[in-house]
Amino acid sequence: MFEKILIANRGEIALRVIRACREMGIQSVAVHSTADSDAMHVRMADEAICIGPPPAADSYLSIPAIISACEITGAQAIHPGYGFLSENANFVQVVEEHEITFIGPTAEHIRIMGDKITAKDTMKGLGVPCVPGSDGGVPDLAAAHAVAAEFGYPVLIKATAGGGGRGMKLARTEADLETAFRTARAEAKAAFGNDEVYLEKYLGNPRHIEIQVFGDGKGNAVHLGERDCSLQRRHQKVFEEAPGPAIDSATRARIGKVCADAVAQINYIGAGTIEFLYEDGEFYFIEMNTRLQVEHPVTEAIFGVDLVREQIRVAEGYPMSFSQSDLEINGHAIEVRLNAEKLPSFSPSPGRITQYHAPGGLGVRMDSALYDGYAIPPYYDSLVGKLIVHGRDRPEALARLHRALGELIIDGIDTTIPLFHDLLAEPAIQSGDYSIHWLETWLEAHLG
Ligand code: ADP
Repeated sequence: MFEKILIANRGEIALRVIRACREMGIQSVAVHSTADSDAMHVRMADEAICIGPPPAADSYLSIPAIISACEITGAQAIHPGYGFLSENANFVQVVEEHEITFIGPTAEHIRIMGDKITAKDTMKGLGVPCVPGSDGGVPDLAAAHAVAAEFGYPVLIKATAGGGGRGMKLARTEADLETAFRTARAEAKAAFGNDEVYLEKYLGNPRHIEIQVFGDGKGNAVHLGERDCSLQRRHQKVFEEAPGPAIDSATRARIGKVCADAVAQINYIGAGTIEFLYEDGEFYFIEMNTRLQVEHPVTEAIFGVDLVREQIRVAEGYPMSFSQSDLEINGHAIEVRLNAEKLPSFSPSPGRITQYHAPGGLGVRMDSALYDGYAIPPYYDSLVGKLIVHGRDRPEALARLHRALGELIIDGIDTTIPLFHDLLAEPAIQSGDYSIHWLETWLEAHLG
């Protein structure tokens, strides 16, 4: 087993990995910027090393600084968490050139899935259902017109290099196409330095359903069911649950097998998530994330597995500790993302925590790097915690979420906690009857 792992991340996900290391008897190394000297991950790791100034580009995203930190501390492997360098194929290549193990998939798989057209082509070839649309990039407006005419309006123009919803434009009718096409290209060029776009049929009212997959890199792979992450604001997930309220066990087994078989065929290693839009009983692939997801705890809760431990094991060449037949769903889990943001604008609200009290009790998990007196720096993501609840069924999980939110205290800054109190009072949340547009519509009506 590895003796020492460096965690190239911060915040709650760095703690998550440190905790897995400790349970496995592995030493952990935290890296941090000068803004994070007092951060919880620095305090909790066995060793900590400063890798640069506050801007992420000069610290958490600095490949030379992270490789040097590994060499100085003698860490044999790097866990990237999510975000930052976790889906950077070049980083993986440099790590491997230094004979350090990257805890995650190969550079090649990250590269394939990072380019949306290549990802879609690959998935189609592996038997995964995709959104109807152009075969590859659409070079000009005439080609866009031809594709849109074939699939019918509305259509979505998407950037090949896309992410975070940028470079994505909707054309409801033929009259909108020219503007949508030009804006999407301009946005893609500005955001990613690559103006290639492609076309997809726009689905009117789908759910966001993602399948958790896991491979050993040797042709074996399993699926761990789905998460419903339809509740999104500006394409950012805010509330996730597993199993999905709209997915029955036959549907889960069918799409789960398609996904597990697909990643087995490419010898995928580690954790991955295949994201779909789901409408009228059909799945449409949108992208694959080649890393641990923020919302992985809901899957851990219902399957009783530790996905980070599993990532570390397969990275070192051990077999997976479960097979498909071992994986049975137990109950229902919900995660809410707690952001340091001021409502109703959702503007960032960094600052000092004057009082912090985490909820506890049966079926409650709080993943957060907050503590009393901690000052949240203004430089990074506003996610400051995840509250995860697990119950025997969905009503019990909802009641537990309500109870746990009532115990949670985060004073000194503004957070999105009040949003969840309000959401829990909504019949659509109680019944699980919502699509990817539900939250935006609700926010417009309630927060103005
Ligand atoms: P990004 O990587 O930029 O976030 P995705 O392809 O993951 O882009 O899509 C982000 C979100 O945009 C989806 O979760 C969904 O809400 C919406 N979306 C994407 N493709 C479609 C589509 N074909 N029809 C309707 N909505 C879509």
